[in-house]
Amino acid sequence: MTQNSDHLDGRLDPLVRRGWTPAGAEDVILPPRATRWLASRTGLDDRPTPAAPDSTLAVPESALPEAAREALCAAVGERHVSTGRAERLGRAGGLSYVDLLRYRGAGAPAVPDAVVTPADPEEVQRVVEVCAEHDIGLVPFGGGTSVVGGVTALRGGKAAVVVLDLARLDRLVSVDPVSRLAVFQAGVVAPAAERMLAEHGLTLGHVPQSFERATIGGFAATRSSGQASAGYGRFEDMVEGVRMATPRGEWRLGVAPASAAGPDLRQLVVGSEGAFGVLTEVTVRVRELPTVRRYEGFVLDGWDEGAAAVRELAQRRVLGDVTRLSDPHETDVAFTMSGGWKTALVRRYLRLRGVLEPCLLVLGWEATSAEELARRRGATLAALREVRPVSLGAAAGESWRHGRFAGPRQRDALMDKGICVETLETATYWSKLGALRTAVRTALIESLSEPGRTPMVACHISHAYETGASLYFTTIVPRADDDPEGQWQRAKDAACTAIAGNGDGPLGTISHHHAVGVDHAPYLPAEIGDLGVEVLASVKRTLDPGGVLNPGKLLP
Ligand SMILES: Cc1cc2nc3c(=O)[nH]c(=O)nc-3n(C[C@H](O)[C@H](O)[C@H](O)COP(=O)(O)OP(=O)(O)OC[C@H]3O[C@@H](n4cnc5c(N)ncnc54)[C@H](O)[C@@H]3O)c2cc1C
Repeated sequence: MTQNSDHLDGRLDPLVRRGWTPAGAEDVILPPRATRWLASRTGLDDRPTPAAPDSTLAVPESALPEAAREALCAAVGERHVSTGRAERLGRAGGLSYVDLLRYRGAGAPAVPDAVVTPADPEEVQRVVEVCAEHDIGLVPFGGGTSVVGGVTALRGGKAAVVVLDLARLDRLVSVDPVSRLAVFQAGVVAPAAERMLAEHGLTLGHVPQSFERATIGGFAATRSSGQASAGYGRFEDMVEGVRMATPRGEWRLGVAPASAAGPDLRQLVVGSEGAFGVLTEVTVRVRELPTVRRYEGFVLDGWDEGAAAVRELAQRRVLGDVTRLSDPHETDVAFTMSGGWKTALVRRYLRLRGVLEPCLLVLGWEATSAEELARRRGATLAALREVRPVSLGAAAGESWRHGRFAGPRQRDALMDKGICVETLETATYWSKLGALRTAVRTALIESLSEPGRTPMVACHISHAYETGASLYFTTIVPRADDDPEGQWQRAKDAACTAIAGNGDGPLGTISHHHAVGVDHAPYLPAEIGDLGVEVLASVKRTLDPGGVLNPGKLLP
């Protein structure tokens, strides 16, 4: 068993919850050209609005009944049950824009009554049983990076709610190099997982933008998708087995790579968002560590042509491990943020080449030999030849790779400047992709446009499949300080209603990789039907008869 050297690092710092940037990490300062661009495009009048001091946030007294506290202490030891202000405040929510607004003093975070940090799967099982016996809500908390309210400490009608932080379940339990399997405890954060696997010459290859802080258990609980999903697969494709603590006892699944022994129950547990049980161990499929990689940037002319080119790559099965197509709006932002004379030259070169609506395509390949990389890159580029992409070379690809985790830090800086900035994502089949993009864009723009405030909505394809693709939207608009939460909530509702199809059948899925949480639960019936919701509810009743697990999440 390998212990993660990052044990508890960062995640117990309550201040981290008020943004992405960890204490002591270098802040991303927006360059002046970015502020000027925001002013001209969105109407932003630059007025600094940094986060309010933590001490000003209202934190109610813990309502945890004494008998439940004693039982939790007996389960995990007194040191690992905290009713302290900082610990509770630090786990009051995830990292959506609305969560961050609440942490910044606009609205009240839902503060749990206690935080429990068990040491191993057996202690997790005991905590789950104590919560069930005492009828106390329990929220599993991995990295706390949920952007859909997945870790909001809702009581759900219970007298109290505790957060079960998995930070101490931070070990690589075993590696089976023959079968290429690794068993991780659920609280291992992604960088630590990769470090521990690298010692065996292996990798998971799961790199979402939340990589730095999200956990193995969180990935499995939300059906996460990494930026290199075209090459390594989505997280549910990687899960081979699970160990889960439920109020009805422990449930273990996964004995073979494929099985015809009825429906695949692993897939019922993967994506269950803490509502069916607490994952304590996850067995994942791992791959040989790549020794060579190449990332490149290209420009295609226009969204429709770009999307058609990515479809071609997907259907010929020659996608890069990373394949990411930005629409003209996102490409414009990327060029503006890069700035400098080189970008000016690129813009001029593209005009000379007659490119009217530049769409940036980032392709990345990872391989275990130069030959393999050359073969796969060659196949991708051959399939692209017909659309005559303009190559920006490896520098553009590497620049994306280096900046791939900068987004959340830039969000902190934008929020400090009085900007409402949030993302949302969906997916659909290729034949509906254009309509879905237009519907979501229109919904966001119409609901956020006001005199003096012009929203900027950018979009990219982040994951492509033979039959369709995901769309990821970023919205930036000056914040409405009189009702900042309502401003975004109305826009998000409009976008979700557009995705759910306004009663005409869904245009796409309500979530490609962020999960359901609280925010998407009202839109689930449109996607899976009332019968689907009933099936989920009956599974929950079987595993969690008292309804203590993650109240208010997943099920509408
Ligand atoms: C800036 C940013 C970028 C992001 N980028 C991506 C991306 O590229 N791809 C992507 O897929 N997602 C992304 N996300 C969303 C988020 O990171 C994922 O949902 C991630 O899988 C959550 O992992 P976590 O460990 O932080 O889980 P948490 O946020 O702690 O929990 C998420 C949900 O899973 C439940 N849960 C957590 N651990 C367990 C467990 N052990 N057992 C049972 N239930 C559990 C929680 O109760 C909650 O409902 C992003 C989020 C942010 C803030």
